[in-house]
Amino acid sequence: MKKCLIPAPAVLGVLGGGQLGRYFVMAAHELGYQVWVLDPDPGSPAGLIADRHLCAEYDDGTALAELASGCAAVTTEFENVPADSLAVLAERVPVHPSAAAVSVCQDRIAEKTFLATHGLPHGPFAEIDSIEDLRAAPAHLFPGILKAARLGYDGKGQAVVDDRAAAEAAWLAFGSVRCILEAKLPLDYEISVVLARGQDGSVKAFPSAENRHYNGILDVSVVPVWQVDQNSVGVADDACEVAEKLAGCLGYVGTLGVEFFVSRGQLVVNEMAPRPHNSGHYTIDACATSQFQQQVRALCGMPLGDSRAHSAAVMVNLLGDLWFDKGIEREPDWAALLAIPGLCLHLYGKQTPRAGRKMGHYTVVGDDAQQVYERAMQARQILGLPDA
Ligand code: ADP
Ligand code: MG
Repeated sequence: MKKCLIPAPAVLGVLGGGQLGRYFVMAAHELGYQVWVLDPDPGSPAGLIADRHLCAEYDDGTALAELASGCAAVTTEFENVPADSLAVLAERVPVHPSAAAVSVCQDRIAEKTFLATHGLPHGPFAEIDSIEDLRAAPAHLFPGILKAARLGYDGKGQAVVDDRAAAEAAWLAFGSVRCILEAKLPLDYEISVVLARGQDGSVKAFPSAENRHYNGILDVSVVPVWQVDQNSVGVADDACEVAEKLAGCLGYVGTLGVEFFVSRGQLVVNEMAPRPHNSGHYTIDACATSQFQQQVRALCGMPLGDSRAHSAAVMVNLLGDLWFDKGIEREPDWAALLAIPGLCLHLYGKQTPRAGRKMGHYTVVGDDAQQVYERAMQARQILGLPDA
């Protein structure tokens, strides 16, 4: 692919105005770029700090035309933007990642089929379009997890189904939409690889994170992964290799998150995110280049930065639940948290806390991985969260 070099102070566009978009705006500003954000929410975290907020739907023709004429290049922070919008933009302006790459990642069936086609490790699955498909699904997929093929995130649109009857009930409850049925794998642990791939095919992977989820939502990411078990270093190397191969097969340009399960010692890809990833937030405070700055660099055809971590890191998500005590709204004790050495607090500027809503995160960094972990757990205690 021909490199398209875009120097600052050009205007960059981003589809989506959530926290990932907000960090993209900050990273672009650091390098002297301006950013326009397209997001229908007037209070979107990225829209609030963008040079211009186009407050419209992702398929709004007028807004897309404005973005194409006003921006030197466009990216996305959100896999559920219509791939068609990216394709329309790409007729007029460079768009990374491509509509084709995003469309694979935004459909769980396309995603698993892609993994299978390219010989990449994945778990057993079946496509479910009808009750007949559920009746014909192989027995080894139970107990399983039924997931809507599109538009799910943070565990939404998913149900654990112990048997065929439960799967039928769940499928009807989802409104009979296209689904994927996956075998529920026994998980040793979960890791992720966040990498950036440039327009020249160069790749920089960040150190893998070990991820712990609560209620289907990422709770904690721990770096380096060797803390989880002795074999995890080798597993993490293999995961990097798989993620790099996957990015190459997708012809990917930008920052990509790849989630893995380690199940009975075997590494399998769970899913990919065509954007920076929550488990890569630690790179803001623990790496020379953040996952967001890599996204800017890749979009603008600039060399990718050093992806090594200069610190151990533990990242903890702050969900809206923390803003409530027995139903009464309160503000968490930030002063107590900020008194912990090495703790970096990030709040996204969201006005309304809600249960399960990602409001911010903190990352504890330092030289000593054990101490970093203890300090991250100490901060959880202050917030009233159980140890992870
Ligand atoms: P989301 O898009 O919501 O992140 P995921 O497919 O990653 O959806 O599922 C969220 C979490 O649910 C995973 O990180 C994992 O903890 C659990 N999970 C999902 N699929 C499976 C599976 N097939 N076997 C075991 N656990 C699973
Ligand atoms: Mg996931």
